[in-house]
Amino acid sequence: MKKYLVCVDSDGCAMDTMDCKHKLCFGPEMVKAWGLEAYREEVLKLWSQISLYSETRGINRFPGLELTMKACMERGILEEDISDFSLWLKESPSFSNAALEKRIEETGSPLLKKILQWSLCVNAAIKALPDSSPFNGVKETLEYMSQYADLAVVSSANREALEREWGRTGLISLVKEIMAQDCGSKSVCISRLLEQGYEKDCVLMIGDAPGDGKAADKCGVLFFPVVIQEEEQSWKCLKDQAFQRFLDRTYKGEYEKEQRHKFMSALKQK
Ligand SMILES: [Mg+2]
Repeated sequence: MKKYLVCVDSDGCAMDTMDCKHKLCFGPEMVKAWGLEAYREEVLKLWSQISLYSETRGINRFPGLELTMKACMERGILEEDISDFSLWLKESPSFSNAALEKRIEETGSPLLKKILQWSLCVNAAIKALPDSSPFNGVKETLEYMSQYADLAVVSSANREALEREWGRTGLISLVKEIMAQDCGSKSVCISRLLEQGYEKDCVLMIGDAPGDGKAADKCGVLFFPVVIQEEEQSWKCLKDQAFQRFLDRTYKGEYEKEQRHKFMSALKQK
């Protein structure tokens, strides 16, 4: 075990997958599942606004679906009693197909069955997408950092997709662990890694969503944001500057604040 640990989010951070997954899979499958073809453009726009271009960027698919359903209901596009779903989201410690299946066994809720079906269709649609690649500079930066730090994937995507993407792109050999949707929220994943004995100031979370920063804050570790639509520059900055600061213990404070500020400004401009 190394002294330092770097946690890396996958979708939209290391892998250039966010836009196509949301615009071609999540949103369109929602349109299909709820028969919203007449409002297709509006639903897709709401989905993207919530999951890509606002502070909820990077949200897990299930709370993302709830927010989009609520936004559709507010606009009179959708009529649905989502109380079974909201209750599950409130009570479940993790949001995954497996956790949802368990709840369906307990309750038999038709709405939850429909949501599981949607989620399975999303997985199938994602599987059928052309292969995605890491952003430029990711491999070099991970290789460089792996000399000094343990690396772990911390993602809310499903494990199968992560293993496939990280395996195919040859990045999997650089990471010590993959913490996926089935391990719980990102903050739970980071806490579990901290239990292995890393000092909090020696742990850096890299992500492309405000939620990644919040998970880091909750665990008391550092956060390096990958700025939307400036991903390549962000990874270069990490390799050339930020990572060295992390090792030198000069990352925390003013420098981290600057990085976060740049990231939030870019998100709000969308
Ligand atoms: Mg992400």
